[in-house]
Amino acid sequence: MLSQVDELIESKRRFAITSHIRPDGDSLGSSLGLYWLLRALDKDVEVIMRDPVPHSYQKLAGSEDVRVTPAVDRAYDAVFVIECSDITRPGLVDLEKQFVVNIDHHATTALFGTINWIDSTASAVGEMIYNLCKATGVRVTREIAECVYTALITDTGSFHYSNTTERTFKVASELVRAGVKPAKVSEAVFASYPWSKIELLGEVLSTVRRDETGSVAWMRQTLEMQERAGASEEDGDGFVNYPLTCDSVEAVALLKEKEPGVYRTSLRSKGDVNVARIAEQFGGGGHRNAAGCTLTGDWDEAERTSVRLLKDAVERRDGDIDTTEDALIQTESRPVRAEIRG
Ligand code: 5GP
Ligand code: MN
Repeated sequence: MLSQVDELIESKRRFAITSHIRPDGDSLGSSLGLYWLLRALDKDVEVIMRDPVPHSYQKLAGSEDVRVTPAVDRAYDAVFVIECSDITRPGLVDLEKQFVVNIDHHATTALFGTINWIDSTASAVGEMIYNLCKATGVRVTREIAECVYTALITDTGSFHYSNTTERTFKVASELVRAGVKPAKVSEAVFASYPWSKIELLGEVLSTVRRDETGSVAWMRQTLEMQERAGASEEDGDGFVNYPLTCDSVEAVALLKEKEPGVYRTSLRSKGDVNVARIAEQFGGGGHRNAAGCTLTGDWDEAERTSVRLLKDAVERRDGDIDTTEDALIQTESRPVRAEIRG
């Protein structure tokens, strides 16, 4: 929990921070936010990742300091693992030999750390890093604020998703006060794409299909399309959201061919339709409305499986929407929240 993290930071010196493979806005924003926080406390700290910083996040302060490595190859007093469902998600060899601090906002995370600080009411781990600034008394500098703000807008879909709460807006407001220019961050994250992404989008969208009810849609991104567009698999990030902008569509799958017969699959849904359960069945994970996993087989087989499971999820509607709100009411009196108000 937060107080243990606070004590650890105070008593130790040499830290590393890592997050999952193919890091996203929350993993990088939160990792770099924590990096600046620890630097402000004069700690010896580095961010290590298995994969390089994607183009969209290269303008974040400190992104050039991220060390890409396949293994934890130095000695640390502790390694902070940001938003990972289990200890294998960072993809770093020998991570389990370290003193691990697990910081996450997914309720489903395994308690793999020696310290586990999990707050499933936080819209992004970024919100938790902001709370940690308050707990440690570190001033929220412009660097920290921009990193945390990036985490918030990426994990809440620019404040569109149901994880957006009053607290998210309060934190965002504090970050703007600390110097964040929202338009500048949004442009860096959402309007700095390479043209290859737009070409790939044209191809991927042309494959969209929906079932007879109109509630389930699916698309494919083949290696051939990527090649034609000169794009990478990552260029397809975000495409899965397009079909969901149609009113009838409640669940979507985008299958991205990683190698023949292997598909990184992004799942998205609206409201109480739960796609995290589907992802978990295939060794993946995520949130009720945004999850991912890897499917195998030929294209038709993999698509049929996703469509069948998405249809089931739409019929079942077992993602209890009220959970987040209930959890929020419970945390209302926690000191962390009081600090944000003050
Ligand atoms: P995306 O579709 O953008 O790749 O992933 C959506 C969300 O699903 C991510 O934010 C992450 O929480 C989760 N996710 C995606 N892939 C995996 C995976 O392989 N394992 C786990 N545990 N979560 C995943
Ligand atoms: Mn997150």
